[in-house]
Amino acid sequence: MSAVQRTLPIRYAPVAGEALDSWLEFLAARLHCRFAEVLRALGLPMRDAAFSTPMLPRWVLMATGEEIASIAEGSGVSGDVLAAMTLRRFDGHAVVIRPGQRRADRRLLWGRSGSRFCPVCLADSGGRWQLAWRLGWSSACTRHAMLLADRCPSCHRIPRLRAHPRREIPRPGRCACLPPEGPLGTRCHHPLGDTPVVALEPAGVTMRTQRLVDDLLAAPEQRVHWPLYGPDGAPLPVMLRDARCLGGLILNHATASDLSEVAEPEVLHQAEVYRSRPLPTDAPHARLDVHSYYAPDDAAATALALTAALQILTASSVPAAGEAARWLTERVTSSGRHLHPGGVALLSGGTISIGLQAALRCSREPKVMPVARLRHRIAIASTRAPSNQGARARMLPTALWPEWSLRLAPWHARGKPVARRADELLAVACLLVGNTTKIHAATRLMGTTVSSHNVSSLLAELTRRPDCADVLHTLVLLADHLDQHGSPIDYTRRRALFTTRADFIDPTQWHNLQRRMRSNHLPDIAHAHRWIFHTLTGTPPRLAHPAIAPATPAQRQQYLRFRWRILPAEAELLAHTARTILDEHGIDEPVHWTPRLPARALRRLVLPGPDPDSISVRRLHQAVPGGDFSIAQVARTLNTSTAHVIHLLSQHPVDWSPPRFRRTQHTAGRVPQWRAWYEQDHLSLQGIADRAGTSLATVRLALLKNDVPLRPAGSYPGRPRRK
Ligand SMILES: [Zn+2]
Ligand SMILES: [Zn+2]
Repeated sequence: MSAVQRTLPIRYAPVAGEALDSWLEFLAARLHCRFAEVLRALGLPMRDAAFSTPMLPRWVLMATGEEIASIAEGSGVSGDVLAAMTLRRFDGHAVVIRPGQRRADRRLLWGRSGSRFCPVCLADSGGRWQLAWRLGWSSACTRHAMLLADRCPSCHRIPRLRAHPRREIPRPGRCACLPPEGPLGTRCHHPLGDTPVVALEPAGVTMRTQRLVDDLLAAPEQRVHWPLYGPDGAPLPVMLRDARCLGGLILNHATASDLSEVAEPEVLHQAEVYRSRPLPTDAPHARLDVHSYYAPDDAAATALALTAALQILTASSVPAAGEAARWLTERVTSSGRHLHPGGVALLSGGTISIGLQAALRCSREPKVMPVARLRHRIAIASTRAPSNQGARARMLPTALWPEWSLRLAPWHARGKPVARRADELLAVACLLVGNTTKIHAATRLMGTTVSSHNVSSLLAELTRRPDCADVLHTLVLLADHLDQHGSPIDYTRRRALFTTRADFIDPTQWHNLQRRMRSNHLPDIAHAHRWIFHTLTGTPPRLAHPAIAPATPAQRQQYLRFRWRILPAEAELLAHTARTILDEHGIDEPVHWTPRLPARALRRLVLPGPDPDSISVRRLHQAVPGGDFSIAQVARTLNTSTAHVIHLLSQHPVDWSPPRFRRTQHTAGRVPQWRAWYEQDHLSLQGIADRAGTSLATVRLALLKNDVPLRPAGSYPGRPRRK
């Protein structure tokens, strides 16, 4: 800049919120000089050094630091005040300016050229223009409660698309456009303060929208803290991109009746006139979504779109926003535009926030394929996109854990299961949560033989039945629990190790125990093998080695009966054997395991099955009579389903054997304790008999039968000998 600058002879301070171009024109008007003379006096360049083209005086869009300094020096107004009079303070927040061209990018953040205006503000201030009127987000004057005007009423042009002509003396408050007709070079000069306006209710919805937007624009660097954006909030441009996307969908797809409650009738009317205008078919950018691609050049349409969009964006939660958006996504899909949950992320060129994506998926929930609901975790309004979760198969048994199958599998009113092998289908469903893996690949990973069709049918049934309303929700919680906390058992390894194995327990050991426990109807040893296989792998025995897999429905029924009729001593022997097998493989994992979710997570969920823990072991054991008993009878006594009782008895076996066997059973139950006393505490057989209140012979026999090596008498010299 030249050093010969002078301060302008008269100083007029800018008014609050005024745009730089307005003030420069006002100075020239007051000095009665041509616009170019003011620019020259302030040392502003006439040509662009980089392009050697005539400089477009778009300093209001973006002035360089040098230019600001020059204006400050020439005018005496501080550089900070001047910088705030340009759109630079909104750059990157509410508008994106292309620096080389000093132009708002019209494709981003509803950038627009020209300026709206409040006629009353112009009349009151003697023609001073507010900077914010240039933003695509301004549609109403909050001071005068009226819509901003878009065009000059006389020449119908948008004001301030171009800079003020240099060779003319500015006339503030009057239209500076060249009218389409009329003598060459003659300006319109219509007094813009006379423009007819649409008055708004001062406390009405359109005014509330503009005030909310103005508050956000006042601090464009602050994050927007609405529930949709989670605890950290979102930067302003993220929220504005969401508003632009929704606003576009609203202007392109909503019917007049959809919007009848959204704004004042006058606003609706003006917006409808705008929407009914034929789209320019010959324009190079003619697009179906033209109402959203660029900022609407109509204040009423902008106000309407923003108000309707903010009703969704300011909802109290992601699901509430989904609820608020449901009418809109219905309209979009009924127009033929596909709104698959995976496609939501691509809306508006893939620029919408993950919170809005989740809300829009929620809005489609009743219309979305059940498997897609799992993949997108819609039940918990997930903001995460599906990814490959095949690794979760290691943490899942082939059949969902019995506790969870009991709670989640649907039943017919007459007590028959809705789906065969529901526990295996539910396990596949749990693997599909948040997952991109195809259904048939998921079934393969789970080692099951159910078909993709069976999985889809069960999922469809679950979404149809009112008593299963939250089964998918619970599956998402279970999957997330696994992903977060892992599983102590590697089920894939167990399946690989044990599905090819035909025997799990030494027949002699099993038969010895049987002889002491049961008078007749000795259970088949195959059941013992099945029980151990089933417990170790979580895989139903039908998928075990062919030598032990039950082949017929009758065999499967017998095995089921074996599970709940098992005696505590039998279960103990089998569990002990299972433990030993794991030890032999060097597997340091629990024999079996079940994930637990916090009770509050499930409190309000509607599930078809009972909480397994709603009946205590004590109550269960009290309800089971000695000798033979009917499971249906016990279920009636406990006022629950037979499935529940079968599950409980399988987990907590009850000693229903006749008294004469119960004594031996009792003994068998105490052997581990005796063994510990013998091996770890080095008590003598007699010492154990004394402590346990039984005979030395009973102790000796019990330990021998359980393969405890007995010591020669007196091998511990320090131990007091029994006299
Ligand atoms: Zn006003
Ligand atoms: Zn005009």
